[in-house]
Amino acid sequence: MIEQNIVTIKTRITEACRRVGRDPAEVRIVAVSKTVTADRVAEAVQAGMSDIGENRFQELRVKMEALASLPVRWHFIGHLQSNKVKYLVGNVHLVHSLDSLSAVEQIEKWGRKKNIPVRALLQVNVSGEQSKFGIEPDEVDSFLDEVRTCEYLDLAGFMTIGSFTDDEERIRREFRLLKHIRDTVTAARPERRAMTLLSMGMTDDFEIAVEEGAHLVRIGRALFGERVI
Ligand SMILES: *Cc1c(COP(=O)(O)O)cnc(C)c1O
Repeated sequence: MIEQNIVTIKTRITEACRRVGRDPAEVRIVAVSKTVTADRVAEAVQAGMSDIGENRFQELRVKMEALASLPVRWHFIGHLQSNKVKYLVGNVHLVHSLDSLSAVEQIEKWGRKKNIPVRALLQVNVSGEQSKFGIEPDEVDSFLDEVRTCEYLDLAGFMTIGSFTDDEERIRREFRLLKHIRDTVTAARPERRAMTLLSMGMTDDFEIAVEEGAHLVRIGRALFGERVI
């Protein structure tokens, strides 16, 4: 089933790319395995998934241990609490959800201790919904000013979560806004030219995200089925 789902998702990504003249090779699937057992994650890896995303620290930890022998790049996509940063340094390929200066402080502290940089995306709340994590679009500049002298924070781009709505045009506007922020930052700040990556799109909106420039789509249910719990 997972294998078939991967084929379907890849086909949909390829078609979305074709509609806007993008190369499908630019888009990577991050398989979001929250609530999914380690065995089924292993199945997904066997079927070709190499990037696995978790949003809860404890679950990430358990699955990283269970699947230590497999070639997996782990992504942390959940709310980033400062006191968890210590463990993430050196263990995850990419943190998608950086949104606080207190987490940056911990990245600098533990990055220095372990002498390992932390690759991260800046999470921006483009939906305007109060409940969402991420910094506001108009805070991006001051945030980047604050982290200018960081030595261990390796900012590689931006992440967002689209609104939970059937209004496709609204979601598209949100993804466009994230891309616009990326374009503005990389053009205006020579030291941030490398902040190119866009992590956006989930099961219900990944085709829109791909059309709007996503490099990383975070997909759970379309891959593993509906979550029980
Ligand atoms: C759960 C989750 C996803 C995947 O959601 P699906 O709708 O199952 O594809 C993506 N990103 C984040 C941050 C998540 O928490």
